Amino acid sequence: MAYAEVIVSLPVPGSFHYVIPDGMVLEIGHRVLVPFGPRRVTGFVIGVDDAPPEDIELEKVKAVAERLDVEPLVPQTLLDLATFTADYYLATPGEVLKTALPPGFTAASKATLIITAAGRAFLDEQQVRLPSKLRISAKEHELLEKTSKGRGVRASTAPAKASAALLEAGLIARKDSIEAKDSGGDVVLLGRVLDPKAAWSHLSRSRARLELYERLADGPVAVDALRDALGASTYRRAAKVLLERGVVEETTVALEAYEATKARILETPPELMEEQRAVLAPIVEAIEGEAKSFVLFGVTGSGKTEVYMRAIQRARELGRGAIVLVPEIALTPQLEARFVARFGAEVVVLHSAMPDSERRRRWRKIRDGKASIALGARSALWAPVRDLGIVIVDEEHDASFKQSSDVRYHGRDLALLLARRTNSVAVLGSATPSIETLALVEKGRIEELQLTRRVGDRPMPTIEVVDLAEEKRAMKGAVHLFSRALQDGLREVVEKKQQAILFLNRRGFNTVVYCGECGDPRKCSHCDVSLTHHRWQRKLACHYCGHLESFGAPCPKCGSVDVEPHGAGTERVVQTVEEEIPDARVLRLDRDVTSKVGALERTLRAFRNHEADILVGTQMVAKGHDFPRVTLVGILLADASLAFPDFRAAERTFQLLTQVSGRAGRADHPGRVVIQTFQPDHYALTCAVDHDVRRFYEIECGQREGLGYPPFRRIGLVRIESKNSRAASEAAELVGEIARRYAEPDARVLGPAPAPIEKVRDRYRHRVLVFAPTPARLVHVMTQLEHESKDRVRRADLVFDVDPVDLL
Ligand code: ADP
Ligand code: ZN
Ligand code: ZN
Repeated sequence: MAYAEVIVSLPVPGSFHYVIPDGMVLEIGHRVLVPFGPRRVTGFVIGVDDAPPEDIELEKVKAVAERLDVEPLVPQTLLDLATFTADYYLATPGEVLKTALPPGFTAASKATLIITAAGRAFLDEQQVRLPSKLRISAKEHELLEKTSKGRGVRASTAPAKASAALLEAGLIARKDSIEAKDSGGDVVLLGRVLDPKAAWSHLSRSRARLELYERLADGPVAVDALRDALGASTYRRAAKVLLERGVVEETTVALEAYEATKARILETPPELMEEQRAVLAPIVEAIEGEAKSFVLFGVTGSGKTEVYMRAIQRARELGRGAIVLVPEIALTPQLEARFVARFGAEVVVLHSAMPDSERRRRWRKIRDGKASIALGARSALWAPVRDLGIVIVDEEHDASFKQSSDVRYHGRDLALLLARRTNSVAVLGSATPSIETLALVEKGRIEELQLTRRVGDRPMPTIEVVDLAEEKRAMKGAVHLFSRALQDGLREVVEKKQQAILFLNRRGFNTVVYCGECGDPRKCSHCDVSLTHHRWQRKLACHYCGHLESFGAPCPKCGSVDVEPHGAGTERVVQTVEEEIPDARVLRLDRDVTSKVGALERTLRAFRNHEADILVGTQMVAKGHDFPRVTLVGILLADASLAFPDFRAAERTFQLLTQVSGRAGRADHPGRVVIQTFQPDHYALTCAVDHDVRRFYEIECGQREGLGYPPFRRIGLVRIESKNSRAASEAAELVGEIARRYAEPDARVLGPAPAPIEKVRDRYRHRVLVFAPTPARLVHVMTQLEHESKDRVRRADLVFDVDPVDLL
């Protein structure tokens, strides 16, 4: 007898063994249906063995009910990675698979049972005479009849035993609705019929129609892509009118043909710069020979992306695939365009905003080897790329690579592990590598490659620091959002028809609103957080839970309706530009703007097309954008991110300042940066001004070593949450006590203490931090701690976060 080791799509730890029924061929990666308690659930085979495991009671082992795919669905490397992830980040394999696979692969409940030809024959025959061999129970008969009608029976509603028996006998079959939906091999395209002159009268009165029409300039475009870009309802309205009036038309082509047309317009790569050639050589060598991991430390605008693309090209020549992770795919449409222009249909872009069926289709396309390059945010790590040759993590320092809910994995760390396990090359790229990554270089675990100059020898931007305290004195106390230097700079940019970016890491109009009577800040009634004034909505908003209060609501303490707003957010910056530089055209980019579908892409495109002179935004403007006309970057308050109660606050600030500055002077005109701050001597600032990553690393490490923070130790965080404040603090005491016991002798425990934000969504939060010398030791302590505290803690919820990035 053969046994299958299966992980199930439920939040239960570990794996389970099942007997493989006679005649069923199972391999690693097969999706199966297995009995689990009273239910049947989807599982994934992670091992097949002739002998049963030793520690198991044979009579209790149940059989695999069904195999769900002809070919194994999930590659073994991916299952291995999932198992590791579950162990390391204290999650269950089921939870990891739910995060890793496109939605729908694990949903067994959607399947239907339908009658087979044999089943029909059986029913027909039975009306004449009873079959000699087959005998079925009344219950089975009833089910069989039902499956013969309409669309069959929902598998989850059918009696398990009866359906198993009928399936076994081949009288019914299971149909996965997933398969049915994924089959669509055709693509509907929208293309122009009328030329712009003839079309004009139909376009001039509607922005949506105009935009839709403009998107068809280079030929027909897939309707799905247009829907993504414009938003479904806008698309529907605009397309309806244009179709009715014969301005555009729909055509249907086979998927393969569509992708072939996309693939035809490949660009030719530029000649590499000297430095690019020098860093590419060892990467290529590692792809061809012994795999290695690298950090590509290249200043902003040094042509890192070109190096990635060349390395991928070499991997492809050797028949191997690539995974490219970027912080936020929606923020980098340009990068996506560059990859598609270079590699055509070989590139598959993965992101979570796509419809589920599309995500499954793209996933299968990669798994089936029809595309070899997966590009996307964190989750693209799980792309089933065949014969992986290289994994790239662009902007590797970015905090978004760490997932902050469900399975709290770090995409960058797992990328390194995946590369090692698949014998592929890893390249972590950044202008501001994380302290952790630089520490790996020091330990000799990864090799550092440098690009020290910008493409075309463009100079690095000059950086000017404005001491706000001094500015205030000089201006006799009048606080201005823009220092004189920044104002002059902005005027000049607008005059010269160049562009500027203004960065402020706070959205809204005012960041704090005090009561005019008693001076209390207005706080969220559900969170321990000050409310932000959003002037356009005339509301006070909580950025943690989304709670809104009207601006004129009375103070909960004294009842006064007087308010004193303080602190500027991006909305206020826009208004100030409009007041002080009336000629300037301004755009804003932050979460408030981009919560509308398509708005993000529209804003980026408009700014790129010089439809605005100044772009005001939060850290969204810092990500790898390439706006050639930007010559001035203004950082309104560099201190904003320094104030965070987080040991990485200085590192984040340094990275943000460098990245935002890097948006200036990327083309023909040199760039200039004005940084406004109350702490001009802080090393995060001075190092950013000098473009000196090394010195920053030295100072920062000096500080962290003393405190035992990463990279010197690994930390684990336990957050204890409850609606009941007493329950939360009691549970926290208990967790702290248990942690101390397991930490002996070489790990250390900090806390319990109230979390920096003590209350969110009406839940009180405490935290316990564990500091351990090695990852293995950390996970050991955390696993034991989880075990015991889950048993003993009653009235509070616990969150376990290994290598946390968000400590609030
Ligand atoms: P980074 O990712 O390091 O910020 P990019 O890869 O975006 O830099 O490169 C900056 C700009 O230089 C891009 O517009 C890119 O097309 C261009 N570029 C990169 N390498 C070359 C090259 N070898 N020759 C000409 N232009 C290049
Ligand atoms: Zn008050
Ligand atoms: Zn709130």
